[in-house]
Amino acid sequence: MSIRLLSPNVAAKIAAGEVVERPASIVKELLENSLDAGATRISVEVAQGGLSLIRVSDDGCGLPAGELALAFERHATSKLATADDLDAIATLGFRGEALPSIAAVAVVELVSCPADALTGEFVQFVDGQIEGRGSRGVARGTTVTVRGLFGRQPARRKFLRTPEAEARQIAVVVSHYALAYPEVSFSLRVDNRQSLSTGGGPLSGAVAAVYGAEVAAAVLPIDAAGDIAIHGLVAPPSLSRASRNYVSIFVNRRWVQNRRLAYAVGEAYHGMLTVDRHPIAIVNVMLPPGEVDVNVHPTKAEVRFRKESDVFAAIQRSVRQALLQQAPVPSLAYSGVSFGAFSGTVWPRTAPVPPLSPMWRGPGLSAATNESSLAQTASAPLPRLTLPVLRVVGQIDNTYVVAEGPDGMYLIDQHAAHERVLFEEIAGRSIADDAQGLLTPTPIELTAAQEELLRVCGDALGEQGFLLEPFGPRVHLIRSVPTYLQGDPRDALLAFLDRLGSEEGVDSAERVAKSLSCHAAVRAGKTLSLDEMRELVRRLEASQVPHTCPHGRPTMIHMSTMSLEREFHRR
Ligand code: ADP
Ligand code: MG
Repeated sequence: MSIRLLSPNVAAKIAAGEVVERPASIVKELLENSLDAGATRISVEVAQGGLSLIRVSDDGCGLPAGELALAFERHATSKLATADDLDAIATLGFRGEALPSIAAVAVVELVSCPADALTGEFVQFVDGQIEGRGSRGVARGTTVTVRGLFGRQPARRKFLRTPEAEARQIAVVVSHYALAYPEVSFSLRVDNRQSLSTGGGPLSGAVAAVYGAEVAAAVLPIDAAGDIAIHGLVAPPSLSRASRNYVSIFVNRRWVQNRRLAYAVGEAYHGMLTVDRHPIAIVNVMLPPGEVDVNVHPTKAEVRFRKESDVFAAIQRSVRQALLQQAPVPSLAYSGVSFGAFSGTVWPRTAPVPPLSPMWRGPGLSAATNESSLAQTASAPLPRLTLPVLRVVGQIDNTYVVAEGPDGMYLIDQHAAHERVLFEEIAGRSIADDAQGLLTPTPIELTAAQEELLRVCGDALGEQGFLLEPFGPRVHLIRSVPTYLQGDPRDALLAFLDRLGSEEGVDSAERVAKSLSCHAAVRAGKTLSLDEMRELVRRLEASQVPHTCPHGRPTMIHMSTMSLEREFHRR
């Protein structure tokens, strides 16, 4: 086939695909235009997930008379003049691509009235061509109405999800802009139902509208001035969530998808959240526009920093500080030097990283990005996954083992540490080789819930050396139990099943291993001999992930020699 230049119409549709992936992308572009126009009130109305209607109205500065059609030309913008301006972008838009891209895939009307005009103007576009224009009396500001999205691109329509899912994504977009611009009042109506409304005021008000009053009442302020200033709100660990979607990052008030920075927030919670829980946080990074490149992604959802590791560290530090002010951790924390021995370091997590939602998947970060590669970009030094050799000094409160390492003091939680050691032993073998057969099988009566648990976790229990035989209604015969369960097998089994019922895990094998290790680990409050403590520390040194117990709690805290010296005013 010979090579030919595409017609402007086809070229425009190709370019539109970059900007307009789904209805929420249109809402995003229109909101950005309204915010750039200095609006104080923005209302969004959508019907049928945005397919039949998207309307965004604002009370911003409006478009100058006579320039409405020009705004729909590709690369027509009032926000940039020279190439140098690209190096320090202070507006949300700058490419002059949104309006023409939207007009290429939908029927669009724009009505606008600038402050100094007596009357407003309108333009209408159908299939990228101007269809009507004229004047119309309207209030100050701009309204863009988009109808029949992808009406002439049935193939694009097929890739959309249900109207409900598209409407949800639109709500996510509006919510994020409401959090980034709390002083602006936002309203979202979905199919004639009020879905979100913010009053325009402090950030906590927007948080209440988006996440509810309970979260708004509990959030803690982040306020760190500096070249890289960090502002926002974080929820205390007690209000964690099961999904990562509650961490919102804004850079100069632009909502960005940056998994490394979201990860920095997570790291600030290190030791406060268990592995499968995630924080709620709204973090706005303010830095000179020249320090960040926003021109790297078609929908501007990703940005690049000149000094990403500094931004990472600033976020981690300021969020951690906000949390510590509210929730005091051991007094070592206040030295501010090196508590959280392992803060700033990254341990492998067992939970898989979900892929980014399709809307934001950009060229730079594929779903294959995993946390260990994220770790490499973090500012903190790469962690040692193994422990240094530790010398046991003694025990405090029959609960914590005190040890000396090459750099200071380690306090080890004996239960959490033992749990880690046992968990790896238990999870690492497929069939228990040390089950303890009972000479006389013991009958046990179970509740319906316990029987259900036996059914769900049956295979995993068998592999760990549990052998139970049905013996009558609700009655089972215990033929063997793992050697880890000590004492009367009936009591031990019942206690174990209770724990198993409340344990979470990716599968039943993990649930069983976690419950078994927790059940069998030495309790807090038990006196240990020096030899027992040494043995525990040796086994912990040999484990894969020595720093956290299987539930994600820290097994130890570290006070470095330097912070000891500082505490004693030796330096
Ligand atoms: P960009 O935002 O990158 O400049 P757009 O295609 O989104 O490109 O918009 C083109 C131009 O139209 C903007 O630069 C701005 O001057 C004008 N414009 C668009 N929407 C609005 C609005 N809601 N209020 C005022 N001016 C607007
Ligand atoms: Mg724009």
